[in-house]
Amino acid sequence: MKKISDYFGCMVFNDQVMKERLAPEVYEKLKKTIEEGARLDTNVASAVAEAMKEWAIDHGATHFTHWFQPLTGITAEKHDSFIATAPGGRVMMEFSGKELIKGEPDASAFPSGGLRATFEARGYTAWDPTSYAFIKDNTLCIPTAFCSFGGEALDKKTPLLRSMEALSRQALRILRLFGNTTSKYVHSSSGAEQEYFLIDRSLYNRRPDLIFTGRTLFGAKAPKGQELHDHYFGAIKPRVAAYMAELDEELWKLGVLAKTEHNEVAPGQHELAPIYSTTNIATDHNQLTMEVMQNVALRHNMVCLLHEKPFEGVNGSGKHNNWSIDTDDGINLLKPGASPHENAQFLLFLVAVIQAVDDYQDLLRISVATAGNDHRLGSHEAPPAIISVYLGKELTDILESIENDAPYSGAGRREMEFGVPSLPAFFGDTTDRNRTSPFAYTGNKFEFRMVGASDSIACANIMLNSAVAESLRIFADRLEKAEDFNAELHRVLKDSIVAHKRILFNGNGYSDEWIEEAKRRGLSNLPTTPDCLPRMLDRKNVEMLTSHGVYTEMELRSRYEILLENYTAIVNIEAATMLDMAQRDILPAVSRFSSELAENAGYKANMNVDCTYEKTTSVELSELQNEMVRCIADLKEAYDFAQKGADTTGMSIRIRDRVLPAMKALRSAADRAEVLTDNYWWPFPTYAQLLFSV
Ligand code: ADP
Ligand code: MG
Repeated sequence: MKKISDYFGCMVFNDQVMKERLAPEVYEKLKKTIEEGARLDTNVASAVAEAMKEWAIDHGATHFTHWFQPLTGITAEKHDSFIATAPGGRVMMEFSGKELIKGEPDASAFPSGGLRATFEARGYTAWDPTSYAFIKDNTLCIPTAFCSFGGEALDKKTPLLRSMEALSRQALRILRLFGNTTSKYVHSSSGAEQEYFLIDRSLYNRRPDLIFTGRTLFGAKAPKGQELHDHYFGAIKPRVAAYMAELDEELWKLGVLAKTEHNEVAPGQHELAPIYSTTNIATDHNQLTMEVMQNVALRHNMVCLLHEKPFEGVNGSGKHNNWSIDTDDGINLLKPGASPHENAQFLLFLVAVIQAVDDYQDLLRISVATAGNDHRLGSHEAPPAIISVYLGKELTDILESIENDAPYSGAGRREMEFGVPSLPAFFGDTTDRNRTSPFAYTGNKFEFRMVGASDSIACANIMLNSAVAESLRIFADRLEKAEDFNAELHRVLKDSIVAHKRILFNGNGYSDEWIEEAKRRGLSNLPTTPDCLPRMLDRKNVEMLTSHGVYTEMELRSRYEILLENYTAIVNIEAATMLDMAQRDILPAVSRFSSELAENAGYKANMNVDCTYEKTTSVELSELQNEMVRCIADLKEAYDFAQKGADTTGMSIRIRDRVLPAMKALRSAADRAEVLTDNYWWPFPTYAQLLFSV
């Protein structure tokens, strides 16, 4: 047996490798850059590049690439080999400091939302030394940020790093006020629990909808779904276990801290959770995880589905983004401490998060908005599209006592210091779990559950970091001016609680009563992507994000365009795929079966045998065929109507209001035909086969 510790991170140019392979002064300088963001001079970069190249070649690499996250949602790479010509027709291996620091991919094929007209094709990638380089498929991958030549961000990493900076800046102001002089920076951390489905590859290959869109566009319910709750945490089948074992091993080699693997609620659904790291590294690692998950599945003759809603009628897949804030010297700022002093600071950070979530509900909703996730949010199995915060009873009571200037009555608490009640020492373990909350406090972190399974966690973390930076800024502005710190601290907490308690909700987030209640509280409910995206450009949002230097207004506008274009493109592809499947596979299959029935009915009639089954089924199927023909015509009309007019905002609304309902109607007719049609003729693997295939 190989020991994990022997090969963990063996494909990563990590701190240990750096220490081994770099001269001490080079190592020190690089470390300063990684930890404090100090600029790297070219000599150091050249030395690092040389060591990286040698290490990579020793580990079988032949190529290098700047690995980046354009706005397409996946990662991008363009491979260059290390070879350079040498005298005598030979080659030598070369990799310069310049090549390490900066790349110039042809950026024209990546979406820029008008930031960079296609004739200005150039963009550049810049090395992000805070995320380790690694080797994948014999290629040295260098994590990079991707910008236009004007300096506008064309990727997700750049704003994420900026948002981490903003959060650190504001959090440090608060820490200093509490007398902390030692922490040098604060970073946000994330652990993303990734849900996914595994299905058999041969079945996948026979489903054009899965191939083109990642989700099934047709399919009658299987006789068995998740009713028995027998899959969640159930014993893992050998084929899946073998997959998970190889997946873990591949991820560990890449330094990804894959930790927990288990079955999820739906049949064929599973989850992988890593140990958390900084939001930057967690984002890179999650992108890598999704890629490795898909590759390893193929080796086991399976396909890993990351779509948010691959199957109707069973749970979809999300990605729980566990989020917290830590100092460089190891203090978790969202963890209650042992002393009242620590708890006053904890409560301030806690309230800052609550205020941030309330003030920027729309930005959080936007950060998870995709066509795929729209099928999941608010459908009585996933968090609702309404954002609320779950704190559990104990913390809610404590905040209430602050709001009412009443002493906290929790089990024999000592009196207040710093104007706030101390927390019970056992706090944290007693918080009940609430599975229906989109944003739940879980003892030392918040769990943001709305992120879609296929989405990058970058956007969610960018918005979280920025919004919390903003409430901390507001708090710090007040507290720094205060004459009596304790009194002002109490007022800050109280004011914030009074203003933002409407966002707190400990009840059942899946219930219809909550929708009503949320409306009364004035919380926003934005069920679809076209509902929420336009809010991105609301003055308050633009001002907050630009003031912290996370986005420029131009970058925001371009992202708005790209997100909407993405939405319309996805639904358009789905509609086209449906039309194709319905016209070229489903209708012909039903027709063949109907004529078989009619023929059999004829034989039977000749023999004076009862042919009720043949007759009624044939009639029913004919009616469904007619219904499908009408639905197809309607979907075509809706599709054409949606494309009219140039502006993407209008198009996205027409798509939501016309195309999606027309798709639903066509599906309904086809699914009813499926259950009447002979398995022999039905052109696609059924839900029963897909969901129970592995
Ligand atoms: P659950 O009950 O939701 O499965 P776990 O305790 O298993 O909760 O943690 C889920 C995820 O939260 C893991 O990825 C874990 O690493 C992550 N996590 C734990 N602590 C933190 C933290 N301080 N910041 C961010 N993520 C964290
Ligand atoms: Mg969880």
